[in-house]
Amino acid sequence: MKIVTKDITFQSKGNCDIIDITSQVAQDVAESGISNGTITLFVGGSTAGITTIEYEPRLLNDFKNMWDRLIPQNIPYEHNKTWGDGNGHSHVRASVLGASLTIPLVNKKLTLGTWQQIVFVDFDNRPRSRKIILQIMGE
Ligand code: ZN
Repeated sequence: MKIVTKDITFQSKGNCDIIDITSQVAQDVAESGISNGTITLFVGGSTAGITTIEYEPRLLNDFKNMWDRLIPQNIPYEHNKTWGDGNGHSHVRASVLGASLTIPLVNKKLTLGTWQQIVFVDFDNRPRSRKIILQIMGE
């Protein structure tokens, strides 16, 4: 078995910025030399998460609107008293979405559906530098 670890770094805008990282991940998988196994993606940060979605503008709006209904920004958060950074909603949203994603790798291909993209979601209330760790394990 072989293990290849890489990272993707980029700038994100915050406020539910949804970034499609599928092509970058596919390229890293191709370069890894691993044909069959799993890839784990992990977001190092407590105000962002990772999932899959059909990257279609109206669906992206539906997704953003869902967070406003489920975990609104303009309600009191205890966390905002701790640091005064005003991003209590960002942390709660990130924890609900989750910080990692695992995808089976079969015959050098990610087993994603045709209309399924890998997306990083930044919930923070300001732009940030971001890093996603990719770990590909297999043979
Ligand atoms: Zn905070």
